Amino acid sequence: MRLNSGTPSLAIPGPSMMPPRVLAAMSQQMPNIYAGELVDVSDEVFERLPSLARTSGTPFVVISNGHGAWQMAICNTMARGDKVLVLESGRFALAWGEMATMSGIDVEVLPGTMTDPIDPAALQARLADDVDHEIKAVLCVQTDTATSVRNDIPAIRGAIDGAGHPALFMVDCIASLGCEEFEMDDWNVDITIAASQKGLMVPPGLAFCWASDKALAAYDRSDLHMSYVDWGQRLNAQAHYELYSGTPPISHLFALREAMNIIDEEGGLPAVWQRHAVLADAVRAAVETWASPDGVAFNISDPDARSNAVTTVKTGSIDAGRISEICADQTGVTLGLGIGDIGNAFRIGHMGYLNPHMLLGTLAAIEATLGAMGAVIGGSGIEAASAEIAKHLTV
Ligand SMILES: *Cc1c(COP(=O)(O)O)cnc(C)c1O
Repeated sequence: MRLNSGTPSLAIPGPSMMPPRVLAAMSQQMPNIYAGELVDVSDEVFERLPSLARTSGTPFVVISNGHGAWQMAICNTMARGDKVLVLESGRFALAWGEMATMSGIDVEVLPGTMTDPIDPAALQARLADDVDHEIKAVLCVQTDTATSVRNDIPAIRGAIDGAGHPALFMVDCIASLGCEEFEMDDWNVDITIAASQKGLMVPPGLAFCWASDKALAAYDRSDLHMSYVDWGQRLNAQAHYELYSGTPPISHLFALREAMNIIDEEGGLPAVWQRHAVLADAVRAAVETWASPDGVAFNISDPDARSNAVTTVKTGSIDAGRISEICADQTGVTLGLGIGDIGNAFRIGHMGYLNPHMLLGTLAAIEATLGAMGAVIGGSGIEAASAEIAKHLTV
């Protein structure tokens, strides 16, 4: 007998489940790229992109995964030998720093942990010491997808301002854009990075880089220019395909426009953030209830620093690899495994196209698996999670 027949569910922290409307929007014959509907769609996407990052700054699209936008940010603002300060809070900002090192940047890491958010006071102290302003940029992530920490971006901005430091402030929102509140202009962020495949509900293949005027001004002293990601060429684009350094990502543009429509129909980003907060509260209620000594536990101890897009669950002496195998093979839910130095852990992605029934299904599959494995849990996480959802149902 086999229980697992039905719609499989992907609950890894990106790529996320795609809305059928987005998939349908991609599924059409290639149009003319020189005139007609595609040009209108491209113009419309560029017009609407700033609102996704809540900015009046300049959007750039890279046909790549998120790594391409990391590269774009560095190549257009930094000069060989410049120093950048990477704020460690898990894996992903470090990986951005490793890329910058390969491009000839002097990368200093402000040490962090795998369980805590970035400490703004430590940043302020380091920047205050940099009296000659050798540090040209501060790089961090809003949400680290390995640890599931959410960093306090306004507090980090406050630390930079508190030290009176002129460094560019670059924030990787790849895991969090469309899931967590993010206000590029109000929070005075100079470069925002995102990718299509997580909260933005579009298959992998598009990355985004939004630049403030201060970031654009840094282009003039940068010297790591790479033609494909070069801002100068893109800012001087005479035809819309020059915004992509070549043939537009046609199917992805149709998909992105549809995903933006879905966000607008939901009530815009604030409504989307609220839904993610409620669904994430349900995840957290479940994990908190499952928790037991030497069993399930949160990776992030500070409740205010837990992401609304992904939750990393430590499993103590319970084999997380086995949990994920049973969930995928027998219940139809694919979970993420722990990455980095977290130890025995799995990760639940709760980003993008997600409603209570999908999420409760994921949580129930985990609980059933824990039960089958004879794991000791504190209580029914499903009961706790559905109570959390119930608080927000209108009767
Ligand atoms: C997923 C992710 C990345 C990497 O994105 P790719 O599209 O795989 O290049 C970088 N940073 C964060 C925070 C992520 O969640």
